[in-house]
Amino acid sequence: MKKPRKCGTCSACCTTHGVTELEKPHATSCDKLCAKGCSIYGQHPPSCKEFKCLWLHGALEGADRPDRLGIVFDFNEPHNGVQSLSAREYGEGAFEEYAGREAVQTLSELAPVLMFKADGSRYLIKGPRHLINQALGR
Ligand code: SF4
Ligand code: SF4
Repeated sequence: MKKPRKCGTCSACCTTHGVTELEKPHATSCDKLCAKGCSIYGQHPPSCKEFKCLWLHGALEGADRPDRLGIVFDFNEPHNGVQSLSAREYGEGAFEEYAGREAVQTLSELAPVLMFKADGSRYLIKGPRHLINQALGR
């Protein structure tokens, strides 16, 4: 049996993802983040405690930990019966790197992937055309 993955020294989602309780928007470094990780660990908000990126769920290769790959993948709320994914750049330019392109390609064969650049701007949707159309209600 594979060992469950652990975040370890990764804290990529503390930058890529918003935290409602702290009114922290996506694509900004959390002001609770310090050199050792979360400075309020243990008292960090429920949404931080509950968050698990796709890599932590076991997707992709072990070496693709988000801080190394430069991309955090996670699930979106299903829309029109379609489960889509989001891909948020942690490292600027990660979508153009070979490993990043491969990771997006692999996951976009299974589900639509909404891609967001490191500055939070929407970049691309990749994935099976029929699922993208269904999600968009076309
Ligand atoms: S991006 Fe994934 S592996 Fe990294 S800290 Fe967040 S949940 Fe853990
Ligand atoms: S509160 Fe802690 S765990 Fe939550 S985003 Fe900020 S640094 Fe990360």
